[in-house]
Amino acid sequence: MPASSLQLLPRFMDALLGASSAVVYATDRDWWLGRLHYLGANVADLSGLERQALRERPQLWLERLDGAARDALLARLDEARCNGQRHLSLNYSLAHSDGSVHYLQDDIVLHRDDDGEVIELVGSLVDVTERQVLLERFAKLGDQLPGALYQCRLDDSGALGFPFISAGVQRLFGLPAQVIMRDASAAIGRVHPDDLDGLWHSIHRSARRLSVWRHEFRYRHPDGHPRWVQGRATPERQADGSVLWHGFCEDITLRKQAQLALVDSERRYRFIVENVSDLILLVDADGLCRFVSPSVERILGYAPDTLQLRALLELLPPDDAPRVQRHIADAMASDNGAQLEMRVRHAQGHYVWLEVGCSSYVNSLNGRHDWLLAIARDITERKQREVRLHELSTTDSLTGALNRAAFLGCLRGELEGVDSRDSRLSLVYFDIDHFKAINDTWGHAAGDLVLASLGEICRSTLRADDLFGRIGGEEFALMLDGQSLVESAMLAERLRRKFENVRVEFHGQWLNFTVSFGVAERRDGEPPDALMHRADMGLYEAKRKGRNRVQQALTERRAEPEPMPSSKDPK
Ligand code: GH3
Ligand code: MG
Ligand code: MG
Repeated sequence: MPASSLQLLPRFMDALLGASSAVVYATDRDWWLGRLHYLGANVADLSGLERQALRERPQLWLERLDGAARDALLARLDEARCNGQRHLSLNYSLAHSDGSVHYLQDDIVLHRDDDGEVIELVGSLVDVTERQVLLERFAKLGDQLPGALYQCRLDDSGALGFPFISAGVQRLFGLPAQVIMRDASAAIGRVHPDDLDGLWHSIHRSARRLSVWRHEFRYRHPDGHPRWVQGRATPERQADGSVLWHGFCEDITLRKQAQLALVDSERRYRFIVENVSDLILLVDADGLCRFVSPSVERILGYAPDTLQLRALLELLPPDDAPRVQRHIADAMASDNGAQLEMRVRHAQGHYVWLEVGCSSYVNSLNGRHDWLLAIARDITERKQREVRLHELSTTDSLTGALNRAAFLGCLRGELEGVDSRDSRLSLVYFDIDHFKAINDTWGHAAGDLVLASLGEICRSTLRADDLFGRIGGEEFALMLDGQSLVESAMLAERLRRKFENVRVEFHGQWLNFTVSFGVAERRDGEPPDALMHRADMGLYEAKRKGRNRVQQALTERRAEPEPMPSSKDPK
């Protein structure tokens, strides 16, 4: 039998080791399957087994262990014996005689002879039940977390290890915590290759600065579904120079997917908005521009940034602003939106016609419908074409006067819309004297020249609001809004003189012509036709009285039309 390392007087040994809470024992190489060289008296407190009983039958100890656990312990011991190990630490639970279960830590020294053969095992048993209960509680709590708690150490040589990692890591990384604690590369090796450099970089930076480590990376999970992982850990410099982090990492795959989907969708919409040829605008409740698409540069000449928070009404012609504001208010109030055409000032000063579709837009900041989305298209060319067509259809090309239909339409519209008590309106009819003779003497082309000359004189004499129409071959009319009979007669007289004095050059010949006028002012409640008739009667009278004169229309009181005071009335 080999000599035991504890070959001191047993009583002395008991006294010495009894002072420790650890139970010290020594066995031959077969551990509890062989012979006991020594066993501390306090083993009874630990297990409820009497020292004497164990001395007689050491296997009693192993019988208090769970069968599977026992086999695993014996296997580990075998392995340690064969590997030449000198220390081995075992943790196991043991059934106490009182029925309770105790967790033991058994730190074993393997004594070897000169050939390296194990000759004795000296163990020190400590009851770690309290610590184990705490650990289990911690593990259970940790298990409730949607990720893994861990400690990570980076030592001086640059080696990374996980002294602790909670069981939750199994779900996260698909690897048991024990595997990662034994070999960090089991987990690190599964980090997506494209994210590995970034990961190491972030770890080293946190170690250098002792700043909180925060990082997101992709992980190739053994189940084949890649995951996004987010980690956060606080570093501490250790006495040996290593850095120890305490942290938490979790699976953020779903959040990340949603985030990436959002970014992608944002990018897609931005692409559409930035490439669409129409102009897209977002306007807030105060009419300030909150977004404008880049096409504004092409359509209106403004850099998009310069319109940010600018009041869009500033860009409208002042006359149009109230109408546009009304439309916008309607669009905001209704679910159907609105379509309108409006002019907007180009950066270079001219106006651009836009066709605009408006709909109310939910402001994501407060969920209210107080923003407006407008999609606008440049219709300037179409509008110009329309104006040209309108002019062609309403204007007489020879004299520039409105044609008969347009003039009478405007006149009727004006007379119907105006309250005669509030505003005055006069009508002048005039006709070239003996025009047939001009045609007959000089030809039709000369007649046309006279008509054109008359048109030019009228247009240069009249105000912008006066309406000038050609209502027959060489018969014209003026509608003078806001003018009394006397005022319009004075205007007619001015024209009459101009016509009388003008000379029209025709193939080296100077032609002259005169014109007769009839003037009437609208009376209260007078229908348009009656007013026109009175003006016509005035003209008729002017002709009858010798032409080249201005004649007031017939009044009801007088049978004869009144000649105007300034008119040339042959005495
Ligand atoms: P009065 O002083 O009574 O008005 O005599 P008048 O000759 O002007 O009147 P009349 O109605 O007899 O003749 C009008 C002429 O105007 C007849 C017509 O040929 C001519 N005329 C009408 N339209 C045009 C036109 O566009 N160009 C030319 N050159 N002549 C026209
Ligand atoms: Mg005539
Ligand atoms: Mg005539």
